[in-house]
Amino acid sequence: MIKQEIKGLSFYQFEALRQHPVHQGIFSRLGGVSPDPWSSLNLGGLSGDSRENIVENRRRIFSCFDLPVETLFDVWQVHGNRIICTDRPRPLTAEHEKADAIFTNMPGITLFMRFADCVPLFFYDPKKNVVGIAHAGRIGTLNRIAEDCIVRMKVEYGSEPGDILAGIGPSIGPDHYEVKQDVLEQAEICFDDLREILVHENGKMFLNLWEANRLILAQSGVTKIEIAEICTACHTDEWFSHRAENGLTGRFGAILALKERETDDGEH
Ligand SMILES: [Zn+2]
Repeated sequence: MIKQEIKGLSFYQFEALRQHPVHQGIFSRLGGVSPDPWSSLNLGGLSGDSRENIVENRRRIFSCFDLPVETLFDVWQVHGNRIICTDRPRPLTAEHEKADAIFTNMPGITLFMRFADCVPLFFYDPKKNVVGIAHAGRIGTLNRIAEDCIVRMKVEYGSEPGDILAGIGPSIGPDHYEVKQDVLEQAEICFDDLREILVHENGKMFLNLWEANRLILAQSGVTKIEIAEICTACHTDEWFSHRAENGLTGRFGAILALKERETDDGEH
């Protein structure tokens, strides 16, 4: 990923998406208005931070790309496998639907999700002009939400997996993600070969969420996969980390949107 700074905010972009007509950014925790322990660009509505802070932080993120906040589409992320394909924004006064992956093929809709260790998965099909973001924590990863996303792109938009660009964003790395026996048992159900996914070291067991998602995407036919390899728990100066900060922290934001096509009515 490549780091960018605009209007006092810093965010990261997948290199493979930069040449395409999309707005994209995974925002660091810097440049917002929230106090500790949410300092400072917190987007997490259920984190304990005030709504005014979160609304201001969200405004700053959208203003980075000059996107109206009314273009927002977001959901209540619940560690499930439900995927929503939308053709309209969520009205700001409307309730959030529960889901963990969101897609659109319409410009003028800004997909928006929140993270603090869970894996942000970005999807873009340049042929069918489709974008999507998924929230893949341990549960979503082991339940193969990445595969569900590719299947849904095929069914809903006619995407070919070989055309899809996928990105695996900043999230807790294998060095910091120790897991217990119960996770091993879950992982055995989901993967034929655990050697690359579960790392044993000094009597401890670590889950590699990056490799797990990469493997699932590859098994689903995706060949273009970019991995940020940025561990949120290693860098709490720049990222919120649920595990490293013992659950008392904020959520950083990720946005992905198709750019509006240039019109020839002279409006531009
Ligand atoms: Zn780490």
